[in-house]
Amino acid sequence: MSRVLIIGAGGVGGVVTHKCAQNPKVFTEICLASRTESKCKAIAGQLKRKIQTAGVDADEPANVIRLIRKFKPDLVVNVALPYQDLAIMDACLATGVNYLDTANYEPPNKAKFEYKWQWAYRARFKQAGLMGLLGCGFDPGVSNIFCAYAQKHYFDEIHTVDILDCNAGSHGKAFATNFNPEINIREITQRGKYWERGKWKETDPLSVHQTFDFPEVGPKEMYLMYHEELESLVKNIKGLKRIRFWMTFGEQYLTHLRVLENVGMTRIDPVMYEGREVVPLKFLKALLPEPSSLGKNYTGKTNIGCMIEGVKNGKPRKIYIYNVCDHAECWKEVKAQAISYTTGVPAMIGAMMMLTGAWRKEGVHNVEEFDPDPFMEKLNAHGLPWVVKTLRPGQMKV
Ligand code: NDP
Repeated sequence: MSRVLIIGAGGVGGVVTHKCAQNPKVFTEICLASRTESKCKAIAGQLKRKIQTAGVDADEPANVIRLIRKFKPDLVVNVALPYQDLAIMDACLATGVNYLDTANYEPPNKAKFEYKWQWAYRARFKQAGLMGLLGCGFDPGVSNIFCAYAQKHYFDEIHTVDILDCNAGSHGKAFATNFNPEINIREITQRGKYWERGKWKETDPLSVHQTFDFPEVGPKEMYLMYHEELESLVKNIKGLKRIRFWMTFGEQYLTHLRVLENVGMTRIDPVMYEGREVVPLKFLKALLPEPSSLGKNYTGKTNIGCMIEGVKNGKPRKIYIYNVCDHAECWKEVKAQAISYTTGVPAMIGAMMMLTGAWRKEGVHNVEEFDPDPFMEKLNAHGLPWVVKTLRPGQMKV
């Protein structure tokens, strides 16, 4: 018997809700809450099971506390925006409820995501006997768990990790982002950053790129970027010498992005317009398609995984662990595109790990700190099967 409160009724929230509803033995009662309650009701209407819905502005801890006191959940799954992370964690602390999210906090006025704000809650969660699980989507999330699985079963020491994130799908729109446009554009326009031999190295935004031939997808251009799981994996993977993150982008996407940046539409500082302050990126977000609206005619596949090299029994070893996900199949199952799906399914599995006690550690933790095996098994069972390829050194070079 367990009660889960899901906050955020966007692309990812829709998938988490569908997947929790498919597993009534673990998730006996579900409440979906978001800023716009009509979006929760629309998702609830797609389900075979009855769930509760609520309207909540999660920027204010007091609003979340009120909702938690009313619904009495065992766990809050936060799939709203990173801006709400700390307010929701405060509300969980005030009410004695466990917490899970898929994206780390960043302050609205500075495009800089970092775990430091949420890691600072560790002692308070521990003292309260609560667990907070951070970054439990695909990347961060499954990418971290792939590394933990490799560390447990394939390596004595991991030397290099390259996380490769490819979306080779087509939604038919001139320009759209697959998750929240504001968060997505803030992330992509940042400087690149990777970690090598104990030091962070920076690159100009999207300046380092190469072609990689993704299984089941084909050759795509991928770009080096900074991504939040690098920060925790550097701490938690033994013997690591280098870790990088790569994401594919099409020419059409990059051309639109360049123009929008050049004309100032990606700025996050307020500008005066007709006597009132407007943040250009927030205005742009209002014009772009919502991630939850892209699924219907989306075709093609994603391939996200980790290329890992290191040593086992004194010999060099290289493996590639990845998942391939089909946009159209996701639409058929839960009325979503594959980016929302690959994020929402791991969030549901993480919730399942916490509610069944398979993962239990008081404090605030990243997913690679737990036994990867039960999670990996559930990925296969709930729609995200994975493959481990053993490679020769030099094969499928990144
Ligand atoms: P969407 O924009 O589709 O959905 C966000 C939802 O949050 C919307 O329903 C929005 O409400 C709601 N929301 C925003 N502000 C508030 C608030 N103050 N109070 C309550 N609800 C609020 O985004 P996605 O579903 O695509 O992404 C959700 C999260 O998942 C993001 O944090 C994103 O970074 C993360 N993510 C993680 C990935 C991973 O692999 N780890 C990959 C993809 C996404 P409204 O509709 O009213 O605006």
